[in-house]
Amino acid sequence: MKDYNLYINGKWIPSQGNDFIEVENPATREILAKVPAATENDVLLAIKGSKSSFPMWSKTDPLERLNYVRKIYDYLVKHKDEISKTLSLELGCPLSFGKNRHVEPYLANIENYFEIAENYSYAEDNKDFKIYREPVGVIACITPWNYPFGQIVKKVIPGLLTGNTILLKPSKRTPLTAYYFAEAAEYAKLPPGVFQLLPGRGGEVGNILARDSDVDMVTFTGSTSGGKEIGKLALDTVKKITLELGGKSAAVVLEGADLKMSLKKVLDTVYLNVGQTCSAKSRLVAPRSLKPEIEKHLIELTKSYKFGNPEDESTDVGPLQSKAQFEKVSRYIEIGKEEARLLYEGEIPKGEGYYIGPVIFTDVAPKSKIAQEEIFGPVLSVIYYDTLEEAIEIGNDSIYGLSGMVFGPEKEALEVARQIRTGQIQINDGVFSQNAPFGGYKQSGLGREGSKYGFEEFLEIKAIFM
Ligand code: NAD
Repeated sequence: MKDYNLYINGKWIPSQGNDFIEVENPATREILAKVPAATENDVLLAIKGSKSSFPMWSKTDPLERLNYVRKIYDYLVKHKDEISKTLSLELGCPLSFGKNRHVEPYLANIENYFEIAENYSYAEDNKDFKIYREPVGVIACITPWNYPFGQIVKKVIPGLLTGNTILLKPSKRTPLTAYYFAEAAEYAKLPPGVFQLLPGRGGEVGNILARDSDVDMVTFTGSTSGGKEIGKLALDTVKKITLELGGKSAAVVLEGADLKMSLKKVLDTVYLNVGQTCSAKSRLVAPRSLKPEIEKHLIELTKSYKFGNPEDESTDVGPLQSKAQFEKVSRYIEIGKEEARLLYEGEIPKGEGYYIGPVIFTDVAPKSKIAQEEIFGPVLSVIYYDTLEEAIEIGNDSIYGLSGMVFGPEKEALEVARQIRTGQIQINDGVFSQNAPFGGYKQSGLGREGSKYGFEEFLEIKAIFM
């Protein structure tokens, strides 16, 4: 078993405490590794390091910073097979899925950040004043377990490129992937304190980072409840905050849609990664007039996904990531059986892991729990509508507003998409891109990641009159 330490001030050091977190393989329940849980003293030491390296890093020429970050990228590319393997073991997904869906797209996303950084102008002339964009300062990046590589890329890469010093606290459930970023920072010879890694518990490390007056910004991706807590703590010292939170996104099918193509696209979001995707379209809003065809296609298509052991390369969907997740999803399936009609329940694969099968509920009432709450598992709720107005109303009937899909004649689909209050929507065969701005309306978050908009979240705006 590899030895894991903290990465503070450019050095691998043991924690000052004696608390460790065991990282489990969700497919076998074997312990993969033990990482230290950073203590308050560890966190304070790291904050001090980030604060003292900030003046130097923020004044480093942006193109020089870019060269450092390119070396980080080179390291990640060189180790992408090993990273994919580690990620698939701690997340519980098939190796090919780990590589093709968790690692490769985000390496490409780093290249997009490089393009933005190369062409970005940090100063702008106006008639009466100049605008300067300046780094925010010391940034705490708090990330979840469901995309252990990608969620870190979206914070650490633009954060460093824009001249901030970074403290990364990955999820305690999948911290091993995060270690590659610290190794990459070491390989790139990033000056001490510019990037630091603090594995640990959310309520401890996360809260200390959010509270500390020397941390200038918290960028958090995780649950809406966690984001609210972090946000309240961070506001005590009026930090800049970005929040990428939960979702309960709707896919609206209109009459005239290509049904099979549409439903396959929806199910891909609900089953792949075992539904543990913030933007999963877990509410299918469909015309009652097409109910028989829709239900037939949903069952047929669902049977084509192979749920099972992620070590078997023919598997599409592995186990849920943790016991807690397994218990949560199982609880919602029981609630669903009371609230709605069970259309399909797939067999649960055998094995020691946190296995679950696909579940579809139909005739779901828009206000029911399974239609309103984020389940984060392979569970679809089908809600029928009679009129287009009703479809839009159901689509918007959520505290969340992260993502969505609309299928049907293009002009009508675009009109519907414009009326659904979410940060992203795909229409028909429109292809999702990591390079587009991503983020939520309503309780799905504050701010954006990806694209120039995500890059600019890491910058303050200064006006100078001269
Ligand atoms: P979580 O809120 O439990 O944890 C996220 C991170 O925050 C972890 O590192 C955790 O240790 C830390 N944390 C949690 N509560 C904290 C607290 N009170 N104080 C300080 N730190 C705290 O979320 P999760 O279970 O890891 O991730 C799943 C959630 O993330 C889902 O709701 C999903 O929709 C959301 N998510 C959103 C996006 C997005 O871009 N909008 C992307 C991925 C996941």
